[in-house]
Amino acid sequence: MQKIKLDDVLTLKKKHPCGSFEWKVIRTGADLKLKCLGCDRIVMLDRPTVLKRIKKINGEKFLR
Ligand SMILES: [Zn+2]
Repeated sequence: MQKIKLDDVLTLKKKHPCGSFEWKVIRTGADLKLKCLGCDRIVMLDRPTVLKRIKKINGEKFLR
């Protein structure tokens, strides 16, 4: 399993309403804080949920 680090760019499977799939990690821990690169909206999600939704990290395929 790949680690998620601060400043990583995550490509998620589902599109944000603004049209972007990419999020930047701005805080790590049990919960992750992600900022949408399309609209700058910030969300807080628990780690298992984020792990389920990731398609790529920094443009590379996410390996589970
Ligand atoms: Zn967005």
